[in-house]
Amino acid sequence: MIDKLQLKTEAAAFGLTLNEKQLDLFDRYAEMLVESNRQFNLTAIKNPDEIVTKHFVDSLTVFTALDIPGKSKVIDIGTGAGFPGLPMLIYDNSLKITMLDSTGKKLDFVRYAVSELGLEAQVLHARAEELGRGELREKFDLAVSRAVASLNVLCEYCLPFVKEDGSFVALKGSKAEEELSVSRSAVKTLGGKFVCCKELKLADEQTRNLVVIKKSGPTPPKYPRPSAQISKKPL
Ligand code: SAM
Repeated sequence: MIDKLQLKTEAAAFGLTLNEKQLDLFDRYAEMLVESNRQFNLTAIKNPDEIVTKHFVDSLTVFTALDIPGKSKVIDIGTGAGFPGLPMLIYDNSLKITMLDSTGKKLDFVRYAVSELGLEAQVLHARAEELGRGELREKFDLAVSRAVASLNVLCEYCLPFVKEDGSFVALKGSKAEEELSVSRSAVKTLGGKFVCCKELKLADEQTRNLVVIKKSGPTPPKYPRPSAQISKKPL
């Protein structure tokens, strides 16, 4: 299905080595994505070359933003068809990954894919701002999220899940700096500290910005607020 050499080479350009087993798992994942996309609209990216660059390698770039020790507890907020969480799990299957989304049918696909690939992950159907008030609050070493909301809103979804000294990595496009400038007070209010914004170019010349935020103190109990308040009055 995919060009494995393309995947291996594009990942290697970011210093990430993929073995044959991982390349086979990515190939099977792409196959399932294309198959399921015929029935459900999971992703607009359908071409195998684009799946490699825009989904797989893009998701793996998270590993270039910070050190992610094996067995880390990671939550992917708004995972959709599994990005970036599932490629991260294929790259390091010791990670304890939770993939969360508010759309059930996408998660049916993610559950199927995780099981077909022989991997283990927690797949949760919920809204981030509701779950972030419950027992998973401040339980993760790392939260990641791609293409879900503007950075200030995303911080309110994601930072409550992160333990003190843990991190949040937002995968953002070319306007990351602008988003950052309006998110500084949200980051601070939620117990975070901006660390860096790493800019990369994918093989298709698209810009990827990895915004890294550290959890430097607890998130005050009033956050995350109910959805209506977040959208009406974003931090
Ligand atoms: N992260 C995936 C990717 O990059 O391909 C999916 C991106 S898709 C554009 C946004 C996803 O975020 C959707 O699947 C949507 O259901 C989910 N989402 C949006 N708001 C959410 C929330 N508050 N809690 C959980 N999931 C949410």
